[in-house]
Amino acid sequence: MIEILNVRNFKEENYDEAWLTVRAVKHPVAGTKHVPTLSPTWELFHRYRELVDSGQWNAQSFAEVYVPEFIGEMYIYRRETFPLLNELWKKDQKGKCIALVCFCADEALCHRSILAGLLQGVGCSVKTEHGTDYSMYYKMLMELQGK
Ligand SMILES: [Zn+2]
Repeated sequence: MIEILNVRNFKEENYDEAWLTVRAVKHPVAGTKHVPTLSPTWELFHRYRELVDSGQWNAQSFAEVYVPEFIGEMYIYRRETFPLLNELWKKDQKGKCIALVCFCADEALCHRSILAGLLQGVGCSVKTEHGTDYSMYYKMLMELQGK
């Protein structure tokens, strides 16, 4: 089982392992391993901050700007990202319980929902806050691969 969640809801004792999938960590989060490779690049992070600061951060900008950029980055850096996604798949297969943790409040507007979709698309058992199916993100990644 892979669970995506906000850091505030993270309880170390509930998981075999936890990956903090953010670009940078000012203060370490106990019980997590920092995995920046599965987070947006600084470029995309700054794009996100610009959208927030200009009041344009919403479901539409997430879908139209952030999602294609993030999936594109996962693909461009696939030599680093795919082995990590594969590692998560293997751990899930072995029945491990892994948390993917981020600081964003809203899962639906966070890259962790995209990671969830990539894992759902390859058959991982993924727990999301409301049981959402994000596997369309896996299809988007596969479309990039087909090009
Ligand atoms: Zn996030």
